[in-house]
Amino acid sequence: MIRIPPQRGGWLEVICGPMFSGKSEEMIRRLRRAEIAGQRVVIFKPRIDDRFDAADVVSHAGARMRAVPVSSVAELVARAQGFEVVGIDEVQFFEHPVVSASLELAEGGARVVAAGLDQDFRRLPFGPIPELLSHAEFVDKLQAVCHRCGGPATTTQRLVAGKPAPYSGETVLVGAAEQYEARCRDCHEPGTDAAALGASAAA
Ligand code: ADP
Ligand code: MG
Ligand code: ZN
Repeated sequence: MIRIPPQRGGWLEVICGPMFSGKSEEMIRRLRRAEIAGQRVVIFKPRIDDRFDAADVVSHAGARMRAVPVSSVAELVARAQGFEVVGIDEVQFFEHPVVSASLELAEGGARVVAAGLDQDFRRLPFGPIPELLSHAEFVDKLQAVCHRCGGPATTTQRLVAGKPAPYSGETVLVGAAEQYEARCRDCHEPGTDAAALGASAAA
């Protein structure tokens, strides 16, 4: 795909898709190239996500790049000053003001690259992502490989003890005893509470 970025000013790029679709990998690829071009580059990530290395963005395949963990959107904006390219990984975990903050940075001349899950484990739009998508100049929706059938996966399946997680569970459960798989629409299991409770009672 040929893309001609605007000649002046900033813009917003969004990279979305399910877990394992390569969002962090793509973020790292884009920001490394900007770094090679001599631009001032920074990647932020929410402090909530310390599954891997707290000070790095790390892809599931092992690619990594230094990142700045921030606790709030205000901290992100303050620390983004002076950077020409601003990456925000796991953007779905930020509070809603991350939308206006991204637009402000772009309007101030920064290239903003936001990567995150477009859907939660219930397949509902995740946090600030829908608005970011509608404001973005460039959008990429990546697919993973479905853990079940090998087809293109567009959803994230949360499993607890190998079974679909209850639909009523918390949206964000970092570090809890659950697992995630990438699944296609057909293989995704909704995990109604009744089915999950019934299944565990029968087990
Ligand atoms: P994301 O940030 O979207 O979760 P990552 O960039 O961290 O994705 O990881 C992508 C990498 O994960 C792939 O390049 C591949 O090596 C690995 N991987 C593991 N499981 C899968 C899967 N089911 N589908 C695609 N890639 C997978
Ligand atoms: Mg990622
Ligand atoms: Zn499938």
